[in-house]
Amino acid sequence: MSGIITKGIGGFYYVDADEHIFECRARGRFRKDHIVPMVGDWVDIEVDDRTKQGYVINIHERKNQLQRPMVANIDQVIIVFAAKKPDINISLLQKFMVYGEYVGLKIVVCINKIDLDEENETEPIKAMLRSIPYDFICTSAKHEIGILELKERLRGNISVFAGPSGAGKSSLLNSINPGLYLKIGDLSRKTERGTHTTRHAELIKLAFGGMVVDTPGFTAFDLVDIDEAELQYLFPEFQKYLNCRFPSCRHYKEPECRVKQAVDEGNINSIRYEHYIQILCELMKNRRY
Ligand code: GDP
Ligand code: ZN
Repeated sequence: MSGIITKGIGGFYYVDADEHIFECRARGRFRKDHIVPMVGDWVDIEVDDRTKQGYVINIHERKNQLQRPMVANIDQVIIVFAAKKPDINISLLQKFMVYGEYVGLKIVVCINKIDLDEENETEPIKAMLRSIPYDFICTSAKHEIGILELKERLRGNISVFAGPSGAGKSSLLNSINPGLYLKIGDLSRKTERGTHTTRHAELIKLAFGGMVVDTPGFTAFDLVDIDEAELQYLFPEFQKYLNCRFPSCRHYKEPECRVKQAVDEGNINSIRYEHYIQILCELMKNRRY
């Protein structure tokens, strides 16, 4: 039987397979290669039908792997920023998108707390987001606006929420799946008893289909691993303009650059380009020789 690991605690893995959750230990050959099962892993299990206990005997190849939180096989990231309180830090928003692209996740950008943006002051940022081939939605967790649209994006996918603290990630998670807070409450009760449970990521099955990681992903990260020459490929809307005069063009100070031309002609959003340059300069400054 095959299934997905939704939770791992103290050497036990909870595998969702065939409409059941099976409590399993690891026993497969992967242990010889020092591979440890992780949440999100698709696994083969052998189980005792009566006790619902069993063994993980094989781990399928991972399509990706996040460090924070430790989860595998994530389909998409929902990057949440608040329209206000706190104001959108555009530079940070760009870094979230670049990082999501770098990890290989499908990206959905969500501007939450739109109830606070009555004057539509975020319009320039929204225009920038509309110019990128990412899915982009506006929500208010407080007034239940855009929640159906959010659910539609989540249905059938394994998703993780990311974004700065205070953006409303927990509120959104709670409005799509009201049971979630109960789970968090259960865990903190255990901690109070002094068992020192660290918060491990857990996959929550959504009633309408799909799964979501119950704890937000990469609130802090580093772009230093990204190669300067690779950065241009992490901006999807640049791709059709990469036929510059010089094949090594970084689209910075080089002449006859198609990307800069596209910016001048309004085909690439100028805020995006500005931040591409900002990140490129940071990468060059941090370059290790
Ligand atoms: P997180 O740190 O990203 O998980 O953010 P929280 O979900 O804890 O929300 C931070 C604060 O923003 C809380 O006080 C929420 O009640 C508030 N909040 C969340 N969503 C909205 C919204 O759509 N509109 C307004 N006005 N406040 C919100
Ligand atoms: Zn160029």
